[in-house]
Amino acid sequence: MESTLNTEGLAADGEWIAGARAKGEFRCEGCGYGVTVYRSLPVCPMCHGTEWERVPWRPYTRVVSPMND
Ligand SMILES: [Zn+2]
Repeated sequence: MESTLNTEGLAADGEWIAGARAKGEFRCEGCGYGVTVYRSLPVCPMCHGTEWERVPWRPYTRVVSPMND
């Protein structure tokens, strides 16, 4: 058993199952359908899958420093 603990007692990353409490952007492991979750993970409306993977927020601040030598 993995001993991954986090503050809310959620499943370890990579084990997001429909019904689990979650918040953020997720993508269906089965078909890649993306959802934004506010309370709990749904069953995928596209393929009825129940496994999700977390999608990291894509900040717009990912600026590559220009080479100003
Ligand atoms: Zn799906």
